Amino acid sequence: MVDASYRYKIGDIEVAVLTDGFRMVPVDDKYLRNASAADLAGALAAAGLPTDKMKNTYAPIVLTTGGKRVLFDTGNGEAAAKQSNGERGTLNQNLAAAGIDRKAIDVVVISHFHADHVNGLLLADNSRAFPNAEIKVPEVEWKFWMDDGEMNRASPGRMTELFANNRRVFDALGRKVTVYAWDQEVAPGVTALGTPGHCIGHTSYRVSSGGKQLYVQSDVCNNFAVFAPHPDWQGFFDQDPPAAAATRRRVYDQLAADKTPVQAYHFPFPALSRIEKQGNGYRVVPISAA
Ligand SMILES: [Zn+2]
Repeated sequence: MVDASYRYKIGDIEVAVLTDGFRMVPVDDKYLRNASAADLAGALAAAGLPTDKMKNTYAPIVLTTGGKRVLFDTGNGEAAAKQSNGERGTLNQNLAAAGIDRKAIDVVVISHFHADHVNGLLLADNSRAFPNAEIKVPEVEWKFWMDDGEMNRASPGRMTELFANNRRVFDALGRKVTVYAWDQEVAPGVTALGTPGHCIGHTSYRVSSGGKQLYVQSDVCNNFAVFAPHPDWQGFFDQDPPAAAATRRRVYDQLAADKTPVQAYHFPFPALSRIEKQGNGYRVVPISAA
């Protein structure tokens, strides 16, 4: 499915929101660590969503800033497009439909090392999807996932699979990356912010230009109907679940207070929203312009 793009501006910086498709996720007792499938179904029903399955969507963005085209996260990759019959892994098709040549991407910034964010660095034949781009990765993520001791200590299953996948992807790139630190600029007008928990090196970004701001949250909150009203619920995918919940509350308290628009990787396209406080949690309000 080709959805092209959604564009808006933050001062002089253009934001193009793309899509990498979706995955249907079962509503079961494995999804949340500290709440049941019935609780999960209740949260979905409260938002008017189907309660048998959830749709997880992917929304990478391209910023045009300081004359550079900067892609934030890369989706599931073209190999996943073949495996899923085009449900996901469609970023490159959507970039082309939006008139953005992937060979003209100058910088790729990775927020964290999960497969739906890094696998798109490669084409199905394991060659580079963005052959002319500098690949920037968070220092904490890079150190953790490339550390052989951490890999050997990892619990079997999801964590060992993630280590193997990250080695596969970055070895194919010759491990040629630029490591960036939190609280530093990763592109003109874009500052990296440490938002650990989902991964220990999970990173978000503040985009500032012309007195305007945008918060690019990455995966601070996954499904908007589940984790915004219930910020203390812990997803199976969080590496440090209490830290992920604490980060969610810290970031959303701030975004609710200062009304900064937020661009989210896993919210429904185009995934641009504001955050409001509601009860003991938050409400995600989709907006059409920042
Ligand atoms: Zn993700």
